[in-house]
Amino acid sequence: MRPKFSLDYYPAPPESASIESASREFLQETQEARLRALLRRAWERVPFYRQRWESAGLRPEGIHTLRELELLPVVGRKDFEESLRLHPPFGNYQGDFDAVRVQTSSGTSGKPKPFFQTQNDWDVVANFWARRFHAQGVRPGEIVQIVFAYSLFIAGFTATEGAMRLGSLVVPAGSGAITASERQVRILKEWGTQVLVGTPTYVLHLADVAEKMGLDTRRDFSLRRTIHTAEPLSEPARKAIEDRWKVTAYDSFGSVETGAPTFECEYQDGYHINEDGYLFEILDPESLRPLPDGEEGLVAVTSLFKEASPVIRYNLEDVSSFLPGPCRCGRTFRRLAKVRGRASEMLKIRGAVFYPTMVETALEKIPELTREYLLVVDRVGQLDCVTLQVECRSEEGNTPLLKSRVEKELRATTGLSIEARLFGPGELARALQVAERVKSKRILDRRGEGHVS
Ligand SMILES: [Zn+2]
Repeated sequence: MRPKFSLDYYPAPPESASIESASREFLQETQEARLRALLRRAWERVPFYRQRWESAGLRPEGIHTLRELELLPVVGRKDFEESLRLHPPFGNYQGDFDAVRVQTSSGTSGKPKPFFQTQNDWDVVANFWARRFHAQGVRPGEIVQIVFAYSLFIAGFTATEGAMRLGSLVVPAGSGAITASERQVRILKEWGTQVLVGTPTYVLHLADVAEKMGLDTRRDFSLRRTIHTAEPLSEPARKAIEDRWKVTAYDSFGSVETGAPTFECEYQDGYHINEDGYLFEILDPESLRPLPDGEEGLVAVTSLFKEASPVIRYNLEDVSSFLPGPCRCGRTFRRLAKVRGRASEMLKIRGAVFYPTMVETALEKIPELTREYLLVVDRVGQLDCVTLQVECRSEEGNTPLLKSRVEKELRATTGLSIEARLFGPGELARALQVAERVKSKRILDRRGEGHVS
């Protein structure tokens, strides 16, 4: 049977089951119809795209198929920044729509950028969040505590809407800046929260807080799963969360610009793409041409459903590839491999490529440390000097012996000589404002500042 189709139908569970397992032919047909509608809308109502396409001599009528999408120019973070500079305060990429709210990007790379949402946009993203929760095992009636910051950053709000749509009971606790971490822990325990939704950093921080309160994180709580997005969930962080809270931890990949494009299913093997709402491409980092399936490159996204501020061939600067073959869960939505890191967060240290999350693999091997860390990169003379600030679980543990163990482990894992600087319990978490920030900051690259410490 063919799933129901209309241009504005993006169902939540349980109705979404038929589109999530539709045939590839039906999905492609749906995507092409929606792409044509999107290009028409953008041409008529979003000057940001119309100007670009006009100067490339393109018109939307010339593009009918997914294959022809590559005729359109790729846009990037810098294009949106330029639009904001030329057309303050909102840029010319929002388009002429009845928008009902504005959320901003988190500003981890560059200044936070505003993105408008119409009511339709908002409803579709909420449905996509409901699909995430459902695929990750959340069911109606379960208690879902959301500890994302409720702010200009979108995830807290859309996660809340999605969980409500699914019929869960939402506890909108917000970050530690709104509900103090000790209170969060008491709510988790006393109200019997089953699902905790937040950044990996804050969910791990709550485990530290619970232990300090004398609680046993594996026995004193009803938690069954934790659900993450906004920050990369590295495999060491996933393992730490699962061990410490005795839960299954799920990741999803998305952003303010795109909404909720992907989700892990119960098999935790790559991110399924909500293909009725999004087109994903993997681009060659040099030429920005699409790469064959399976090859690794830069992720570009087109939001098919979006009215206000749609993204069309938007280069996210994240490095990934498509996973081959069908998933064991039965969904036909294609999967994206675990994102290897933002191209913009990739560091070159002494000429070698280095992703900061690599240090987490080293930290995993040292139980005397918490998961807090800050990587500081300086240039001394001609040489890159890397220091890793880490935090001890106890004052007594802060010894020169531990310092040399950490440095040895870092050398073994990363191949780099990195100096370790140990902090006392809670010191680094406070300095990094783990409880308050929307996302954690893990890198301080001072090489461009002529700074020598
Ligand atoms: Zn699956």
